[in-house]
Amino acid sequence: MRRGYQLPFYADLSRMPDAERRVIWGMMVGQEGKTKIPVLESLTERGFDPTRHRLQSYGTGWQSASFLAQERQLFGAPGGIFHDWDLKTNLEGLYAAGDQLYASDCCGFAAATGYYAGRKAAAASEILSLEEPEENEIGREKERLYAPLYVEDGIDWRELNKAISKAMQNYCGGIKNDMLLRQGLELLASYEKDWVPALSCKNPHELMRAHEVMDILEVCKLILNACLLRKSSSAPLCFERSDYPEMDPKEDQCFITIYQEDGEIRSRRVPKEYYGDVKTGYEACNQDYIREEAPAYEES
Ligand SMILES: Cc1cc2nc3c(=O)[nH]c(=O)nc-3n(C[C@H](O)[C@H](O)[C@H](O)COP(=O)(O)OP(=O)(O)OC[C@H]3O[C@@H](n4cnc5c(N)ncnc54)[C@H](O)[C@@H]3O)c2cc1C
Repeated sequence: MRRGYQLPFYADLSRMPDAERRVIWGMMVGQEGKTKIPVLESLTERGFDPTRHRLQSYGTGWQSASFLAQERQLFGAPGGIFHDWDLKTNLEGLYAAGDQLYASDCCGFAAATGYYAGRKAAAASEILSLEEPEENEIGREKERLYAPLYVEDGIDWRELNKAISKAMQNYCGGIKNDMLLRQGLELLASYEKDWVPALSCKNPHELMRAHEVMDILEVCKLILNACLLRKSSSAPLCFERSDYPEMDPKEDQCFITIYQEDGEIRSRRVPKEYYGDVKTGYEACNQDYIREEAPAYEES
């Protein structure tokens, strides 16, 4: 400690239960996005034995924790649903938690916000009443959802998925500008007009995939529109624009929210610290909970 931290680091797992060690080497390294083939498979094939050998598991390229520009959306961190102190969205009675929230990440965040949003939603449900469902709307939605099952010889969800990924790499890559972002939106609009109605599925599994891809298309439109609204670059947001290279000007140190109203995109600029002091805000919004939980904490 006196010398400060110095590489290389090793994790000494020798006293960890064998089952847990195997979860790390077998399941986690086998299922994480980048490590199944280059790490687990190749090292196992070459004779690596995790009970006897030591592994230095970081470095450059795929061994590093750095991401390529097109991989940055892997986790929920960059954007997501905006909410108030109760984790309530702008729709009355709708609460959100986990990766779908902006600036989110990790299982701990998902569990904590899930508990919090559930608590708030349960309390709200006591004073809210259910709306009468609108049969016509349900009918229209069913028609939209099942449509791909009735398309014969159409396109497969994989083709659309691949095309959207390529469009985002080309038009919303590491360095962005207005012209590219607008071209990207035009391309996505053409997919929506020509490809989505041609999506064809043979079974419920493929239908689920088709809807995931349609959701991806919608989210990509949100991303492109949000990128167009930020007219500067930002180091903490890993956001680089060739037409607005100025880094983090004061007026742009804010969140940009977007939503759709009457078919139009509307946006708001929200100051970065809109939520105020965390302790004061938490205590103001959670008095009942703090009182309820306090005796249990005191006992333990
Ligand atoms: C490769 C990778 C490695 C990670 N490593 C770690 C780690 O080491 N430690 C850590 O803490 N976190 C890690 N994370 C992050 C962690 O997995 C997530 O933060 C967490 O799982 C988010 O939980 P969630 O419940 O918010 O969302 P999810 O787990 O994504 O759950 C959302 C669920 O909703 C379902 N769904 C979506 N749309 C619909 C719909 N229309 N109708 C019905 N269901 C729907 C989905 O199928 C999914 O099951 C990792 C993530 C990835 C991708």
